[in-house]
Amino acid sequence: MQDLHIHMHPGRKDPPETFKEKTLAAGVTGGAVFSIVPESYRVESGVDQRWQARAEQILEFCSRAPGFRPVFFIDPTVSDAIEQVHAIAEMGIAGFKVICNHFYPVDGLKTYQAIAETGLPLIFHSGVLYNKQPSSDYNRPMSYEFLMDVKGLRFSLAHVSWPWSAELVALFGKLNYLDQKAPEGRSRMYFDITPGTPPIFRRDALRWMYMCGFNMKHRVLWGTDCRSNFDPEYAKFWASLDKKIMAEIAADPNIYRVPGQDLYDYSDIWELATEKNFDDFFGKK
Ligand SMILES: [Zn+2]
Repeated sequence: MQDLHIHMHPGRKDPPETFKEKTLAAGVTGGAVFSIVPESYRVESGVDQRWQARAEQILEFCSRAPGFRPVFFIDPTVSDAIEQVHAIAEMGIAGFKVICNHFYPVDGLKTYQAIAETGLPLIFHSGVLYNKQPSSDYNRPMSYEFLMDVKGLRFSLAHVSWPWSAELVALFGKLNYLDQKAPEGRSRMYFDITPGTPPIFRRDALRWMYMCGFNMKHRVLWGTDCRSNFDPEYAKFWASLDKKIMAEIAADPNIYRVPGQDLYDYSDIWELATEKNFDDFFGKK
């Protein structure tokens, strides 16, 4: 089982070896860990937040936690963002992370184009953002619609975009249709189903996603939103809930199928979301 969405936090944190033990205790054998945040997001006192230092730290951490890919948290609106993308791709980072907390997604367009050229994936936050400023308007799924024209970009939207999960599924329907029609000029969208969805909304959100009539089972990535001080009990809770909901969906995947639509076989959705889809997303052939 792999976990796409783990945040490195500054300050006291488990060494990679302890982190690895804790993930294994939850059955998580790999995934991705995000570097600490850029200064423009949050100033962490006493922490070196220069991009070089943040990149080196996450590379070093993951080199001692086999199976985990280092992902660099970038502010796509800073003046040297494109320079950062090129330098960081050279350093061996596996992907980029963006949270639109003080800008609209489209403000980072040039940076996303540069990321697409590196062939590395881009992991966005989406959904309500619990920070100290008004920022949720930057994170509604439809604000990411323009990404359809970012040629070659593989990107994910996190947290099933809660509370806008239905809007997320609608966006996927459009982008996926365009990608299937003419993949050369388009981006490819993935669902990062890391919670954010409170448990009571989880079943609805996953059912909307899988049963809306789009061919999307290869575009789902599972995650926990744990910190690098990993919490195995928390991870196990979500794994067990999601596995149960997916088994329920797989048991009767075609109840909303309209005549003429493809029949869905969803018997492998848990395995795809927690393992196989990771290779496609990270570009491993
Ligand atoms: Zn997160």
